[in-house]
Amino acid sequence: MRHTPLCFIDQDKETAERNKDEVPEDQMGIRNLVHTEGIFESPIDLNIAKMKDINLPLLEWYNFEIPPKKMKVTNTGHTVIFSAKWGQERPYLEKGPFFGKYVFSNWHLHWGANEMEGSEHTVDGSHCPAEMHVITFKSSYLTQASALKEQDGCATLVYFFKLQDPPNPAFQVIIDALYDIQKAGTSKKLTPTNINNLLLKFESDYFFYWGTVSTTACTHYLMWLICRTPIAVSAEQIDALRFIFDENGNQLKRNFREVQPVNNRTVLHVCPSTSKYCTLLQPPVTQFFRSEDFSDRS
Ligand SMILES: [Zn+2]
Repeated sequence: MRHTPLCFIDQDKETAERNKDEVPEDQMGIRNLVHTEGIFESPIDLNIAKMKDINLPLLEWYNFEIPPKKMKVTNTGHTVIFSAKWGQERPYLEKGPFFGKYVFSNWHLHWGANEMEGSEHTVDGSHCPAEMHVITFKSSYLTQASALKEQDGCATLVYFFKLQDPPNPAFQVIIDALYDIQKAGTSKKLTPTNINNLLLKFESDYFFYWGTVSTTACTHYLMWLICRTPIAVSAEQIDALRFIFDENGNQLKRNFREVQPVNNRTVLHVCPSTSKYCTLLQPPVTQFFRSEDFSDRS
């Protein structure tokens, strides 16, 4: 694995030692974790039993219900990335761990060669079959590229995928487009649909930690917010992802990174409001049935 220097690390080991058992009490406390604990790589294993509870203002979601004007899906050769353009202000998040507005940039997927792998983060030591990363950046930095250079520039929302029998209609829109972007570097325009159909809007009961993202030049700070409720999709839908090709014309069967040590990092459970028996909650299976799916059962 490639290791590049961290841009902003200036870890004060004495401070880290002094504060390691303290739980941050507010948004500023979360920000300070970077200075007291340092930053280590992502992804990590998530285990609710090892997390620290924290109460923060509820995460607020704006404009996610407004359909974009244009929507596109691209095979980058490493993943499938979805981008969109809005006629007005883009969707954004506020409050929770954030100071300021974090606007929606794009989202991409990670998957594996079979159903036993695929997610980047593991949950209690096990992989989920796929994981979606929704990239957001702080609007005051204007672009994602300039935001990446800042400590608080970018945040990734993490959604795990779990298998269910019926296909997820919101996810099928993406799957249907894959046939046209099998070659690396190709894109397809999509009929704009509400991105809300796929993203679960969580405002409490999620996980937070500081990690990193690597670019060719450097490794950057990144906030990770993990939704506790997985998205339910069918095994056939995940399997379709394995039939796109990388830059060498080979099937892109797996594109997830290895789990990294948590080290002394604090992983937070923000505003816990449901059971702590399991790290992830059950996906809301029935919400993905359309009315016609029930027509032959009545
Ligand atoms: Zn990713």
